[in-house]
Amino acid sequence: MELFQRTATELQKMLACSQVTSEQIVQAFINRIEAEDSQMRAYLTITAKEALGAAQASDLRRKQGQPLSKWDGVPIAVKDNMSTKNVRTTCGSKMLEEYIPPYDATVIGRIKNAGMPILGKTNMDEFAMGSSTENSAFAKTHNPVNLQKVPGGSSGGSAAAVAGFEAPWSLGSDTGGSIRQPASFCGVVGLKPTYGLVSRYGLVAYASSLDQIGPIGHRVQDVAALLQLIAGHDYKDSTSVTVSVPDYQASLVADVSGLRIGIAKEFFSEGLNNQVKSAVMRAVQNLSQAGAEVVDVSLPLTDYAIETYYLIATAEASANLARYDGVRYGLRVAGDDSVAMFKHTRAEGFGTEVKRRIMLGTYALSAGYYDAYYKKAQQVRTLIRREFEQAFTQVDVIITPTTPTTAFGFGEKKDPLEMYLSDIYTVTPNLAGVPGLSMPCGVDSNNLPIGVQMIATHFSEPVLLRTAFALEQIQRKGEFNE
Ligand code: GLN
Repeated sequence: MELFQRTATELQKMLACSQVTSEQIVQAFINRIEAEDSQMRAYLTITAKEALGAAQASDLRRKQGQPLSKWDGVPIAVKDNMSTKNVRTTCGSKMLEEYIPPYDATVIGRIKNAGMPILGKTNMDEFAMGSSTENSAFAKTHNPVNLQKVPGGSSGGSAAAVAGFEAPWSLGSDTGGSIRQPASFCGVVGLKPTYGLVSRYGLVAYASSLDQIGPIGHRVQDVAALLQLIAGHDYKDSTSVTVSVPDYQASLVADVSGLRIGIAKEFFSEGLNNQVKSAVMRAVQNLSQAGAEVVDVSLPLTDYAIETYYLIATAEASANLARYDGVRYGLRVAGDDSVAMFKHTRAEGFGTEVKRRIMLGTYALSAGYYDAYYKKAQQVRTLIRREFEQAFTQVDVIITPTTPTTAFGFGEKKDPLEMYLSDIYTVTPNLAGVPGLSMPCGVDSNNLPIGVQMIATHFSEPVLLRTAFALEQIQRKGEFNE
C-alpha cells in the first residue's frame, strides 16, 4: 500500500514507531498532488515548500526526543476560507484572489501547534455558497470517484482531496451541509460539530449563526481525532462555548445496544432517490441487528427547512459581505469617485451566485419586508430547534440520508432553486445548532457513494461517533450487504 493511501491514524502509528518520516509522508502526498491534481483540482494553493519545512522540523523534534504532540508530522489540507498567515486565502473568490492574511485562524494555530504540516488550501464554492464547488471563481473540482461528477460543496476540494488520496484528512466548513454533502458525494466521513464547539475565529464569515468548522477523513476514528484537536473554547470567538471537551476516542466502541435510533418519515419522502433510500435503510437495519432500537419520530417542520435556511443564510451573508468594498483589503477596482470604486469592485469581485444571495438577503432585511421574511424565518428556526429537542427526548440519534441523490454532473443543476433543494436534509441541523455526521453506506448502480447522516443533540458528538464507528465496524466485517 502506498503512503498516500493510508489513513491519518495509520500514518500517526507509523511515525510513532519510526517506520517512516514526516518528510517521506509529505513528499508522498506532494508527488500524488503533482500527478493527480491537474485533473482533480482539489487545491487552489499547494504549499509544498512550507509543508516540507514543517515535516523536516517535526522529524528533527522526534529525532532529538523533544516533546511531541500525538499528530506531530501528520499532514492535512484545509479549505480556503480559513486564514493562514502568509498564505493566500481566496475563499474561492476573485475578491480575495490576492489576499494574504497576516494571522492564522484559531484552528490553523492548533494544527500548527500540533506540528502538522499543511499541504495546501482546497477549492470551494465562492464564499462557501453552493453545493457543487462549481461556484468557485477559479476551478471546477472533479469528484475523484468519477471525474464526470461534481464533488459536492461547498467544501468540495477538502472532500475530494481526502477521497482522491491527496491528503489523509482535511478541514471543511459547514453552514448548511458543506462538510456532510461533499463527504457523502465523495465517499468519506465528515462531521459538522455543534454550533459553538469549534472556534470560528479566522473563518471567513458566510452566515455567522450557522457556520461551523469540522473534520473530513477516511475513517470515523480520524474524524474523532481531528475534532479533538480543534474543539474547545476560544476567547477570540464570542460564540465559542465554554464546555469541557470529552475524550472522543473513548466513544469509539462498536456497541450500539440500547441506543435509540430515530427515523423521521419527513426525511424519506418524495424526491429521495430509491437507491439512496434503501442503502440508508440497510444501515439502520444493520444497527438494529446489532442491538439498537428503532423508533419513529416526527419532524414536520423539515418542510420549511429550505425556505428558512435560505432566508437566514442570505440575510447574514448580505451583512457579512458588506466589508468587501475595496477599501481595507481584497480587490479594488478604480472608479471616478469612491462610490464608483465600491460599485466596480463589487461588480467585478463577486460571482453570480454571491450577488444573487446578497440581493436576496438585502431584500429579506429591508424595512418593508423584515417582518414577513427575516423575522418569520427566525421564528420558524426556533420551532425547528424545539422540534429537534423534542425528538431527542425520545431518541439518541436520528438517521437520515445525507442527500436526496448521489453526485450529479457538471452543469446539471442550472436552476439555483434546484441546487438549493439538494440541501434539504442537511440544513436543519445547522438551524438547530446540533451536530451532524455523514459517512458512506454503500454505492448506487453507477458506483457512486451514498452517504448516511446521523444527527444528535447539542454536544452529543460522542453519540454520533459511537454510532458511526459501530456502523463502520459492521461494514468492514462484511456483514454489510450492498
Ligand atoms: N449549499 C448550502 C449553501 O449554499 C450550504 C453551504 C455551506 O454549508 N457552506 O448555502
